[in-house]
Amino acid sequence: MRIGVPREIKNHEYRVGLTPPSVAELVAAGHEVLMESGAGGGIDFEDADYVAVGAQILPDAPAVFAAADMIVKVKEPQPQEVPLIEPRHTLFTYLHLAAEPALTDGLIKSGATCIAYETVTSPTRNLPLLKPMSEVAGRMSVQVGAHYLEKEPGGRGVLLGGVPGVAPARVAILGGGVAGINAAQMATGLRADVTIYDINNDRLAELDMHFGSQIKTAYASKSAVEAAVARAHLVIGAVLVPGAAAPKLVTREMLKTMKRGSVLVDIAIDQGGCFETSHPTTHDDPVYEIDGVTHYCVANMPGAVARTSAFALNNATLPFVLAIANKGAAQAMADDSHLANGLNVSEGKVRHQAVAEALNLPF
Ligand code: NAD
Repeated sequence: MRIGVPREIKNHEYRVGLTPPSVAELVAAGHEVLMESGAGGGIDFEDADYVAVGAQILPDAPAVFAAADMIVKVKEPQPQEVPLIEPRHTLFTYLHLAAEPALTDGLIKSGATCIAYETVTSPTRNLPLLKPMSEVAGRMSVQVGAHYLEKEPGGRGVLLGGVPGVAPARVAILGGGVAGINAAQMATGLRADVTIYDINNDRLAELDMHFGSQIKTAYASKSAVEAAVARAHLVIGAVLVPGAAAPKLVTREMLKTMKRGSVLVDIAIDQGGCFETSHPTTHDDPVYEIDGVTHYCVANMPGAVARTSAFALNNATLPFVLAIANKGAAQAMADDSHLANGLNVSEGKVRHQAVAEALNLPF
């Protein structure tokens, strides 16, 4: 199959659909890979790095779309890309169509087969192509939290791990899922005093088994969260209620009980945030302060570590890209119901129930 990778053009998107190691795998399987010149530039790959593993370089996006049967991207197609999509294309990328009626309309009109990373499932009922980004955001939350606890950016002047004779900082992690466990791994690595709060008792038991005496776990009752917030130096919001806005676990009132210079990192901001005082920020201007408490609420945390994120995403997408390339999209989806769950649009129709319901379109 001829697989095309355009350069990402969404503002502040540095990742790339295929890294050179992924291209090498596809070329070894007998496929042609057509890269737009400069596609890997955001994570410091030159065109020559792609040529070295067997890709061809094309000058611009129109040339890539015109030559390829499958398009592998990271972000949803931007308005100037949509007219380039044709019925023979399989588009494999993050789409997030439920909030994008105009893009959905464009993809319906394109006639292409559009498979969204975020709705591909796994046998364990996880979302395997979202998981790596939660891992990245969870791990990053601790390093940004540690930074903003420093005095210069407005923090309390507390070292996360303490030193011999001085107690470590207290870290409260709300939600012990993928992002939460990764945050806990980083925080315990830095020797902070970590407690994870969740409402899923089975999850709390798993976390207890996994971390042993390195962390404490607590049921996330309102009073437990209230007490945690008042004590913590760093609170990390990592809750998810699938398909719903994040619950507001930390109220404006609770904020007043926090120590000056404490830090909130709201990973769940892309679902509306789990602190009442959260609003989305960007990497250009990531924090703001309310009641002396620093809020970090960047909706695209993995963008800051685009190179790690691109490799992590490729690790997760490559088996599906290979399956589609080897068998064609229709056969690959017939053989794998989890990949089929990724189908959002094909032959001019919305094929995903939740997307159709969100946009009030026929399914
Ligand atoms: P997950 O499903 O693996 O974990 C969520 C956890 O939250 C579950 O264990 C669940 O039991 C728990 N939970 C639900 N309601 C709760 C409540 N009221 N109190 C305490 N715990 C509760 O989800 P995840 O993959 O870890 O994602 C977490 C959040 O991070 C999501 O909102 C996701 O969209 C977001 N995210 C953000 C970024 C970013 O850049 N900001 C990147 C990746 C993921």
